[in-house]
Amino acid sequence: KLYNQVQDLKGNIRVYCRVRPFLGGQPSHYSSVSNVEEGSISIITPSKYGKEGKKTFNFNRAFGPSATQGEVFSDTQPLIRSVLDGYNVCIFAYGQTGSGKTFTMSGPDDLNEETIGVNYHIRNSSHNGINVPDANLVPVSCTSDVINLMNLGHKNRAVGSTAMNDRSSRSHSCLTVHVQGKNLTSGSTIRGSMHLVDLAGSERADKTEATGDRLKEAQHINKSLSALGDVISSLAQKNAHVPYRNSKLTQLLQDSLGGQAKTLMFVHISPEPEALGETLSTLKFAERVS
Ligand code: ADP
Ligand code: MG
Repeated sequence: KLYNQVQDLKGNIRVYCRVRPFLGGQPSHYSSVSNVEEGSISIITPSKYGKEGKKTFNFNRAFGPSATQGEVFSDTQPLIRSVLDGYNVCIFAYGQTGSGKTFTMSGPDDLNEETIGVNYHIRNSSHNGINVPDANLVPVSCTSDVINLMNLGHKNRAVGSTAMNDRSSRSHSCLTVHVQGKNLTSGSTIRGSMHLVDLAGSERADKTEATGDRLKEAQHINKSLSALGDVISSLAQKNAHVPYRNSKLTQLLQDSLGGQAKTLMFVHISPEPEALGETLSTLKFAERVS
């Protein structure tokens, strides 16, 4: 309750940041992230990216490389709880391929897992609105039911190897949990929903060295991510017009973005100096939507 009041005062959009640790076996070298505070991170920028020095970015919450899944989870739990109070909640994981999006959304994953690549079409029908006819709505009764469904979803993510070598980075993945409850005193029904959206990698098209269909796909991903940024930033600025119609992703989530809905944009950055260009563009995206 208190959280919801605080949240309402602050608006319904929050932006978090997480810095991935260097991975096992990686030679240890300088991180481009020089400092992580509770609500900010500082980046060391060489002169190539404008003024040389330190640049600080602010967030509602920032997590450094040593933050555990437990810490991240306990910070997000009040938001997830508000689903039980009837709110629609969207949590997005944004960042370049390899920055830790999937890790945050579903813990360490098995990258050897084969993906199948199922194509889901988004339809706009006059009586059903925006819907995904081939997606399954499955009743669940316990946590392991949800985890099994998430694993199935991972297997179904688009296949398409790129130079960055992550097959699941070519598609957005969305897990939606619908919750319906009954107030035992008043008998009224409460409905809430939670969308966990593991976005496609945000790297620029040229980075993947993609050509042909892959390049087209990459440009399409970039377009849909910037359309998502446009929607969230116009909600954050309380603009009268919100450009939901510019991408299928925002059309699909329209009812859960804006209004009383709560949005968490969780941006991820890689610590390697080689990733600095993408890191800065991720941080600019975060600035734009907050
Ligand atoms: P993305 O989904 O953004 O492409 P992943 O979540 O697959 O990135 O992360 C890339 C690699 O880094 C994976 O091997 C993952 O297990 C590891 N990783 C990511 N974040 C963390 C973290 N916070 N702690 C430990 N390992 C991590
Ligand atoms: Mg991933």
